[in-house]
Amino acid sequence: MTTLYRNAWVVTMDDEGTEHPSGWILLDGGFVSAVGEGDEPGADETVDLSGAVVTPGLVNTHHHLYQTLTRARAQQADLFTWLRELYPVWAGIDAEAEYAAARAGIAELALSGCTTVFDHHYVFPRGRDGLIEAEVQAARELGVRIVASRGSMDLGESDGGLPPDDLVEELDAVLAETQRLAGALHDAGRGAFVQLAVAPCSPFSVTRRLLEESASLARRLGLQLHTHLAETVEEEAYCRELYGCSPVEYMGEVGWLADDVWCAHCVHLSDDDVLELSRTGTGVAHCPTSNLRLGAGVAPVPELVAAGTRVGLGVDGSASNERSDLLLEVKQALLVARGRRGPAAMTARDALRLGTRGGATVLRRDDIGSLEPGMCADLAIWRTDVLELGGAEDPVAGLVLSAPHRVDRLVVGGEEVVRAGALVRADEATIASEHRAQARRFAK
Ligand SMILES: [Zn+2]
Repeated sequence: MTTLYRNAWVVTMDDEGTEHPSGWILLDGGFVSAVGEGDEPGADETVDLSGAVVTPGLVNTHHHLYQTLTRARAQQADLFTWLRELYPVWAGIDAEAEYAAARAGIAELALSGCTTVFDHHYVFPRGRDGLIEAEVQAARELGVRIVASRGSMDLGESDGGLPPDDLVEELDAVLAETQRLAGALHDAGRGAFVQLAVAPCSPFSVTRRLLEESASLARRLGLQLHTHLAETVEEEAYCRELYGCSPVEYMGEVGWLADDVWCAHCVHLSDDDVLELSRTGTGVAHCPTSNLRLGAGVAPVPELVAAGTRVGLGVDGSASNERSDLLLEVKQALLVARGRRGPAAMTARDALRLGTRGGATVLRRDDIGSLEPGMCADLAIWRTDVLELGGAEDPVAGLVLSAPHRVDRLVVGGEEVVRAGALVRADEATIASEHRAQARRFAK
């Protein structure tokens, strides 16, 4: 079955940044088979897009889907205060709540143009099974790709960590469960819909041994590694006191600066840290809204990009960025870069590249992030005849600068999972009401 989407401004995000202002794209069996302008190939089905902008599906590189249940808490807190208030609330999570939370968060992401969702789940209260399976099920049902992760915390308050003792796990149990989930869920193949990463939570909630053993397990299984890093000045002070070095230096000591690792935030970096991340191939998930919401600061993204670092975007959890809108994060990345370094710091297309191609490189996926023959047929299709884009002669810059926008169609693996701005496989109002019912269980 081939489908031709025609009459569109196609942004390929290839190496040269090719765009086809009067373009078309041909899909075949879940992959892109051709893209261009002018003479159109024949197809089983042809869809006229009436001048819409087509971009690669956006790739989210950092999230905690369960946090949709606990929005707008600890409203003026810094990260550590915010975490201390929320850990006991999150201890109520179970598979039913996780499923409802994931459906809500993934629906929001899909409607903002996201086709690949990474999720970092690290709260595993004793005796609650099936949390990762629940979010994977939600992604499968809604039709997007998911890179789930087995997160972990094993450094409780009584050992000098931040989380309460009853929320941390035993190291051996974490590793065994990670291995089990990898066997059950991870697909290493091209066009994979479900993958697993290994993701201890942060330097202040896990032991050195867990970081080291997680890395060796992941490398044995061929999985990517992820954690939080250098998010706040408090984290910097914590690491200096406990480990006698900066968070980035600590990561180097435990074998976590490498090309199979990506870290969320990386706000507080020295010039040497920037060079070290680049030299080692370590990736960065830039989460500007969350960093602003918690007053953490702004990551030096133009410097990281100039140094050749892999950088993608993340909405981060919904308790520190109450909105899971990835196109809005593209705009936010542009704004914070310009706020730090002036109007030449980042173009609209550079920002869009971070949210698509950049995210794909961060997740080490060479099958998503651009629209070229052989790539996954993951497309975000944006109408240009809406109020906010009138007068924007350059619709691609207009799309970014006037974000957020609801995607018109979202195609994942060749299948439309959003059409006319609505989910195809689920009802948005039902997702919202089921989510509200679960969220009430977490109310104060
Ligand atoms: Zn996070």
